[in-house]
Amino acid sequence: MYEISNSGWIEIITGPMYCGKSEELIRRLRRVSFADQQIRVFKPALDNRFSEGNLVSHNGASFEAVPVDHPGEIVSRLDKGVEVVGIDEIQFFPGEIIEICEKLAGQDTRVITAGLDRDFRGEPFGPVPELMARAEYVDKLHAICVQCGEPASRTQRLIDGEPARYDDPVIMVGADEVYEARCRSCHEVGG
Ligand code: ADP
Ligand code: ZN
Repeated sequence: MYEISNSGWIEIITGPMYCGKSEELIRRLRRVSFADQQIRVFKPALDNRFSEGNLVSHNGASFEAVPVDHPGEIVSRLDKGVEVVGIDEIQFFPGEIIEICEKLAGQDTRVITAGLDRDFRGEPFGPVPELMARAEYVDKLHAICVQCGEPASRTQRLIDGEPARYDDPVIMVGADEVYEARCRSCHEVGG
């Protein structure tokens, strides 16, 4: 990347589950740490998938991350002199996160974000579409469709082995729920 040198900017790494968003975010953060730049990484507190205080990818790579309940906490918990801010699972934050990213970029911070572009229904997810429009750099990655092997752009939600229905609640207590990567043709939403 030919980097901007006279201001901050926003990057977004997006795509379905398993496309390598966290892996790519961790790769970029590692490079920044080799350059001895000050980094802070945040994630929504509700994402406790693998580890409380870490950002972890499906291939096992990790980077220290601070869980926050609200976007405003990112600003209040930021020390002076931080040059790079990473934010993972950005789709789970409310719209206010957009203003926070813009504000940081306006203060000469490099803001590297990662998150799902679509929900399990295949529809745009939370603040991500707007961030894609506002970011200087957008990378849309693909996983591999587990059904046919084509590039996967969607996240399939299965509940007790069946495609989740459009209006199934996001949290289903006690259900056997799995997510997998699928292409446009193989992605299914139950009626
Ligand atoms: P994301 O953050 O986008 O969910 P991760 O960075 O956590 O993705 O994980 C990406 C890794 O997931 C890949 O490098 C690969 O090892 C693994 N993986 C598992 N299933 C798939 C799949 N269907 N397509 C691509 N990668 C997969
Ligand atoms: Zn497919």
